[in-house]
Amino acid sequence: MPDFLHPDKDNFSDDELLQEEKIRPQSFQDFAGQRKTLDNLEVFVAAAKNRGGALDHVLLHGPPGLGKTTLANIIANELGVGCKITSGPVLDKPGSLAGLLTNLEENDVLFIDEIHRLSPIVEEYLYSAMEDYKIDIMLESGPNARSVQIGLNPFTLVGATTRSGMLTKPMLARFGIQSRLEYYTIELLGMIIERSARVLGVKIYEDAALEIARRSRGTPRIANALLRRVRDFAEIKGNGEIEIGITKFALNSLNVDEFGLDDMDNKIMRVMIENFRGKPVGISALATSIGENPETLEEVYEPFLIQEGFMIRTPRGREVTEKAYRHLNISVPKRPDQ
Ligand code: ADP
Repeated sequence: MPDFLHPDKDNFSDDELLQEEKIRPQSFQDFAGQRKTLDNLEVFVAAAKNRGGALDHVLLHGPPGLGKTTLANIIANELGVGCKITSGPVLDKPGSLAGLLTNLEENDVLFIDEIHRLSPIVEEYLYSAMEDYKIDIMLESGPNARSVQIGLNPFTLVGATTRSGMLTKPMLARFGIQSRLEYYTIELLGMIIERSARVLGVKIYEDAALEIARRSRGTPRIANALLRRVRDFAEIKGNGEIEIGITKFALNSLNVDEFGLDDMDNKIMRVMIENFRGKPVGISALATSIGENPETLEEVYEPFLIQEGFMIRTPRGREVTEKAYRHLNISVPKRPDQ
């Protein structure tokens, strides 16, 4: 997958990240879809505001690019408080966590992305911070070492994870509000694309927006990235407006097929059929065969292939479905009982 189409923002250039910031929704009203999550959050945010207290801690899970960071920002905006952003791998020492926590103002939001990647020791510190708004800090080391307790302002931790299965039980138990974000429908992605085009000041026709939506793997980050690339084609090869002809031309040039599947998805299915003869395969064997790391395979590719019915998970491993054979134009092998 070209980097700019990768739903994981670690693969984005600084310029792409800047552009993404520009079109990020700022309020519940601008955030499309995820109705169940939003309806609940709106109630909890209104209640917290009424009480003048901090909102309960929120855990958002789901594949990359579906709006976890955006929602954390929106929660802070709607509460009228500040939002500090960090991530599990960045918070490598208790000291860095303590620094962040002690700087939070009353009822602020602290967003920790990839919270499943916190080290156990940092996680331990976070428990008392989340529970009692207190942390113990070690002063000095060796024989003079002593711990002092510091009180914190009440705050809301918004944790995001692509792999909630990797969170420890005590961590999970500390989130009063937990929500899973789902892939978006084509109609919703179409609306997101039209809104982003308005923000970017470019004219887009409805059929073009839906064409981009169809190829966006249910993921707003990809929809917006494709929109920006199609806009480039429209500016250079067309008249600046995003219509269906230039859109199809651009999407084909970018190698994104009509299911939103890209080279890597097709490679995964092909390897499963040709190298593993369509038999169940484990994630690490598959990752090695396609030259991708197992985490990306499991977090990015697999959920979409499963949701679209190209792959299933069985107790014996991952298996391709008949739909995958048909997609690749490979004849479906007859089962022995047929
Ligand atoms: P995550 O944190 O889950 O990886 P982000 O919150 O960074 O994803 O979302 C990626 C981009 O997609 C954002 O810049 C935002 O513009 C857009 N986006 C995500 N969800 C929505 C939504 N529900 N409505 C509109 N735009 C969205």
